[in-house]
Amino acid sequence: MINVTKTFFPPIEDYQKQLERVWENEWLTNNGELYKELSQKLQDYLGVNQIIPMTNGTLPIQIALNAFAKEGEVITTPFSYVATTATIVWEKCTPVFVDIHPEYLTIDETKIEAAITDKTTAILATHVYGNPCAVEEIEAIAKKHHLKVIYDAAHCFGVNYKSQSIFNYGDVSTCSFHATKLFHTGEGGALFCQDEATRQEMWYRHNFGHDGPEKYHGLGLNAKMSELQAAMGLSVLPYIKHIIAERKRVCEYYDTHLDFSQLNNLKLREGTDWNYSYYPVIFKTESDLLKAKDKLKVENINPRRYFYPSLEELPYIQSSTCPIARDMAQRVLCLPLYDSLSIEDLSKIVSTINE
Ligand SMILES: *Cc1c(COP(=O)(O)O)cnc(C)c1O
Repeated sequence: MINVTKTFFPPIEDYQKQLERVWENEWLTNNGELYKELSQKLQDYLGVNQIIPMTNGTLPIQIALNAFAKEGEVITTPFSYVATTATIVWEKCTPVFVDIHPEYLTIDETKIEAAITDKTTAILATHVYGNPCAVEEIEAIAKKHHLKVIYDAAHCFGVNYKSQSIFNYGDVSTCSFHATKLFHTGEGGALFCQDEATRQEMWYRHNFGHDGPEKYHGLGLNAKMSELQAAMGLSVLPYIKHIIAERKRVCEYYDTHLDFSQLNNLKLREGTDWNYSYYPVIFKTESDLLKAKDKLKVENINPRRYFYPSLEELPYIQSSTCPIARDMAQRVLCLPLYDSLSIEDLSKIVSTINE
């Protein structure tokens, strides 16, 4: 069976070595030695200003919304994973969907201002498939209207934009280290921000609001990453260059062998140093997509409809004004992409689709 992704497993001895440190320390969570080491290594590798690793990639979005969005209206994209919208609703904010750009598939920045009201507090946009939003334009809009900017950068591990980490844009950016993502800690994620004061605010929120054992800074919850998750991260991180290089190989195979007279692929924003995190192809019609998906299924190949349906169609959402996102959601299919995908399997996938 070939799935859309396959989790990278480091050699088990590597993980055992990290676990031995945990056993020696007899320390399983709460700012442990491995957690601190992973934080530092990620900060250096990614070149980010501030990082707080967390227990998944959803809670950092929720924490940032809690700090910034204040139960107001949050301008957001309909073309993302459900977590982007669900966190807004969970924080008792109102999602206001702005349609996407038909080629970049990120939020259409030219349509943001028309959606701003006196209740708008923040913009939560996704760098979908690791393709950056129009960050400069969004920053200018946010400044003008005094809004906070949060990027769901779940797909962006290792993406640079204009020679620096994409996580260095926005008031807060978040990443997911889930097992299906490029870099993983089993479950896990991180929050990134630009200054120490914001980091402190976010740190409190991710640890019950504790300011010492008997004092509380404010409302918080539990989003802490454990030593067992950090152990996995420290075991995977040494292989990240290999993982990305092998994904590049797979993407280049698709680029050269797929029949693009019948398909489109993602347009990356200029200035992007990409991470090969997903390989979306855009069919001419939904029925072409479904035909291809069925044929692949016969060959035991499971691509995924990332992202379907368009999020403004969720059962707990009322609005419905994003025709481009709906259309794209019906026609985009993400092809299998992982480091160990063989040429034989790639050839089978490509010939099935081209047929
Ligand atoms: C994976 C993902 C998330 C959620 O991350 P978890 O680590 O699974 O909580 C959020 N947003 C997007 C766009 C994602 O792909």
